[in-house]
Amino acid sequence: MKITIVAGARPNFIKIAPIIKAIEKKQNEGANVSYRLVHTGQHYDKNLSDTFFEELNIPKPNSNLDVKSGSQAEQTGAIMIAFEKELLQNPCDLVLVVGDVNSTMACAIVAKKQNIKVAHVEAGIRSGDMTMPEEINRIVTDSITDYFFTTSTSASENLLKYGVNETNIHFVGNVMIDTLYQNLNKISAPLFWDKFQLENGNYIILTLHRPSNVDEEQSLIQLLQGIDKMADDKKVIFPIHPRTKAILGETNLKLKNILFVEPQGYLNFMYLIKNSFAVITDSGGISEETTVMGIPCFTMRNNTERPETQSIGTNTLVGTSIENLKKLFEGFLKNGRKKAGIPELWDGKASERIIDILLKK
Ligand code: UDP
Repeated sequence: MKITIVAGARPNFIKIAPIIKAIEKKQNEGANVSYRLVHTGQHYDKNLSDTFFEELNIPKPNSNLDVKSGSQAEQTGAIMIAFEKELLQNPCDLVLVVGDVNSTMACAIVAKKQNIKVAHVEAGIRSGDMTMPEEINRIVTDSITDYFFTTSTSASENLLKYGVNETNIHFVGNVMIDTLYQNLNKISAPLFWDKFQLENGNYIILTLHRPSNVDEEQSLIQLLQGIDKMADDKKVIFPIHPRTKAILGETNLKLKNILFVEPQGYLNFMYLIKNSFAVITDSGGISEETTVMGIPCFTMRNNTERPETQSIGTNTLVGTSIENLKKLFEGFLKNGRKKAGIPELWDGKASERIIDILLKK
């Protein structure tokens, strides 16, 4: 079986790493499977792309479509045009896409139109929020997917509601958590650890990059000022996403606790999360990682496509207002951490399950 694996953005790199390892393991056992890795170039900054390839030992892509940034349509169109040529030149039996970025949707459409089977890893999750580009990517991708690999039973149920045939839905667990388990013994403190006098539990991690939080400069500034005040005596480490950085531009913010740092590599970032007091974020992936590491997570969104991080894990859905964050954070300071568990099958073996299933097809 020839598999073309697509990755375009930071969270994709984290998800494909263990899938490639699982394929290589099968190859070593003599299985007839090969892969070709296509990087669409959606994320191209060194610290959003190259660093992840190096740290997670992802092989150099066989092809880089080099699409770079653009509007939603420009980027999606550019990926489709380039990926069509790529697939015609390098035919395969299956295109495997992960997550919910533009590359996921664009490449799934191109593959399907060439009558190539599509596997979607992290299928079926839904926020119900059609203002999120990712939600549209999820729905379109799942409407043409052949093999659905899900992280939760609720994602599988969503697919059944959409009329997907049960035999094509495979609840396998979470590949992002495979990567976490595979790298926990390699995580390390970033260079600024001593400079900022960080210690286990004396700082908060903040990440923000979703349009609902960062596109309006004034509300972003108010949110940052509110978090800065709320942090009290704790430092807030804020690895700033290029998108958020572009919006703040040269604005000179007078903040007491928030420390701006570059987007972190995976191994430093996981170390920072694991040792933090709490995390404030609008990322979906981070709410999964904090759940597994037992770190309290406050998600600055009105909804989540990962409900198990809230019902089972450590995640608290805040909404986007600073008032609500303050209220929930005070409750947490008063009552302590909520009791949390780890969702079913988030055990580090999802990628192996995926490859086992695909090889039986
Ligand atoms: N991440 C990282 N360094 C950072 C910020 C995030 O390694 O400075 C990792 C994070 O741990 C998670 C992934 O990137 O695994 C999530 O990426 P992002 O927030 O961009 O995507 P989302 O989860 O919102 O789709």
